[in-house]
Amino acid sequence: MVQLIDVFKVYENGTKALKGVNFKLEAGEFAFLVGPSGSGKSTIIKLITGEVAPTDGTVLVNGFNVGTMKMSKMPYLRRSLGVIFQDFRLIKKKNVYENVAFAMYAIGASSREVRKRVPYVLQLVGLEDKAKMCPDELSGGEQQRVAIARALVNNPSLIIADEPTGNLDPARSLEIIMLLNKINELGTTVLVVTHEKALVDAFSRRVIAIDKGKIISDGLDRYKI
Ligand code: ADP
Repeated sequence: MVQLIDVFKVYENGTKALKGVNFKLEAGEFAFLVGPSGSGKSTIIKLITGEVAPTDGTVLVNGFNVGTMKMSKMPYLRRSLGVIFQDFRLIKKKNVYENVAFAMYAIGASSREVRKRVPYVLQLVGLEDKAKMCPDELSGGEQQRVAIARALVNNPSLIIADEPTGNLDPARSLEIIMLLNKINELGTTVLVVTHEKALVDAFSRRVIAIDKGKIISDGLDRYKI
């Protein structure tokens, strides 16, 4: 669950990135967060992941109060989320299986747990046959599916995708959003940041629109920008 209550963010140079943002994403929901460049989308993501603190207001994520929590609790917040980026961020020298397994070892999982879980998530994203291939041998869409498998492998309750289709052609973009829909149907909360109107229009989903640091609309099929 994510809730922003009257959130303001002023960066150190005085830029007012968010000016009183309110929205709530319930557990199990799917939403697009849309808006033009500079509207505050990345700032919202960074607040949710704990990379930046709100100047004023409250940010609640999976039971953590991000603005007031102790730094020592941050790993627990991070573990409860999976983040997917536009540029995939895979380790080039590791194969698909190793890229996904690495995220499990990083939080102290045993080899036994890894052997059980990684094949499952690779199957979920449709890459069970490519486990031994390296990122350079894969298409952009496949690389993004590896990144999705990695984001899912530790079973987070929330997935945040930051422009996940920015480097993909329209057909592959559609596949990625369909995959995120499937993951949502399996119970994970999903927030997708994008500025691709055609993509949002292809799905009948909640759309939270932001402009100049303020939410300007929030509801089904309401892409106004
Ligand atoms: P978006 O992701 O929608 O493009 P951002 O959240 O990145 O928007 O930016 C919102 C506003 O905050 C913009 O005016 C941007 O220039 C500013 N901004 C973002 N990050 C910083 C920063 N670290 N320091 C100062 N200003 C920033």
